[in-house]
Amino acid sequence: MKTYLYKLRPTKPQLAAMEQTLAVCRHLYNGALAERRDAWENERRSVTFAQQCASLPALKEKSAYLPSVHSQVLQDVMHRVSRSFENFFRRVRSGEAPGYPRFKGEHWYDSFCYRQFGDGRGAKFDADGRLSLSKVGAVRVCKDRPLTGTPKTCTVTRRADGWYACIACDTGPEPLPKTGETVGIDVGLESFATLSSGEAVPNPRLLRRAERRLKTAQRRVSRRRKGSGRRNKARVLLAKAHLRVRRARLDFCHKVAHDLVRRFDAIAIEKLNIKGMVKNRRLAKSISDAGWGLFVSVLTQKAESAARQVIAVNSAYTSQDCSHCGGRVPKALSVRLHSCPFCGFEAHRDHNAALNILNRVPKSGGDTAFGETATVVAA
Ligand SMILES: [Zn+2]
Repeated sequence: MKTYLYKLRPTKPQLAAMEQTLAVCRHLYNGALAERRDAWENERRSVTFAQQCASLPALKEKSAYLPSVHSQVLQDVMHRVSRSFENFFRRVRSGEAPGYPRFKGEHWYDSFCYRQFGDGRGAKFDADGRLSLSKVGAVRVCKDRPLTGTPKTCTVTRRADGWYACIACDTGPEPLPKTGETVGIDVGLESFATLSSGEAVPNPRLLRRAERRLKTAQRRVSRRRKGSGRRNKARVLLAKAHLRVRRARLDFCHKVAHDLVRRFDAIAIEKLNIKGMVKNRRLAKSISDAGWGLFVSVLTQKAESAARQVIAVNSAYTSQDCSHCGGRVPKALSVRLHSCPFCGFEAHRDHNAALNILNRVPKSGGDTAFGETATVVAA
């Protein structure tokens, strides 16, 4: 699956129709959530996705607003409710303390989805390149790159700087030619990542600048009086700054992941407990900054579609152990050089860690980052 993001150029009536769709969807969402909650609280009865979908036609007949929204979009709302309950129950079962699914306020619902794409469906491209959305109209699109594969769904999203269409396409696997190379990657604070080949991927500078702007924007909002027009303006600027950071981060992850997937058949990474690390005060900023979690998911997706492997290995003592002789060389975080008293091997601390990660790739089988068993990998 590949997703394509296109900026929309709606007319005023189309804009109003999209805002209206969001409002209707949000009310339906909240209503469906209340139905499930009440059925359980009053009658100890569970309401299913199928039941809620089946009740839509009857609701539509009674409502003045529901008919203004395409039926697939309404079904998708039911899907979202169902998914948030599934997530809730899954987390309850695994012993966490999740919050009950929430009602969505005005600013907390900003997308709707056509679950089918193409001729005779809710969303399709017209011959003149406009994106035809049922009940909204034929919207002009900045189509800066062509779609590949078979488009499956179309999600319309409201963001701080306008409206976007996100079209998910089934592209099938696009395997890359084998290179016979495997790499280990260490995530660092000094560099974003260090490869077992000794290369360092520096932290993105652009991101730093975007983050400084974000801080300024945040302060501007806090200074201004609640409910004032000036604060509202500042709030929009803050949302845009957030958007910029998110985009810069994603772009960086894509570039790094693309390069790795092209060069290596198998990529070994540490099995990291991101949640645990963000709790750690000192590492918190760097880890969340570096966006390692985002990177791993981008890398995994790219690897999957290119028939490459991402292998998660045990991360204990990767920076302490000597990658050459296996001896344990304890060192503080401030010590940047690994210098082994047993065998004399010397390397940058992060390089040594990356080599350890590479060494830990199991010769046959093991966990991959996407939860399957790794097949034999040449280490
Ligand atoms: Zn050694």
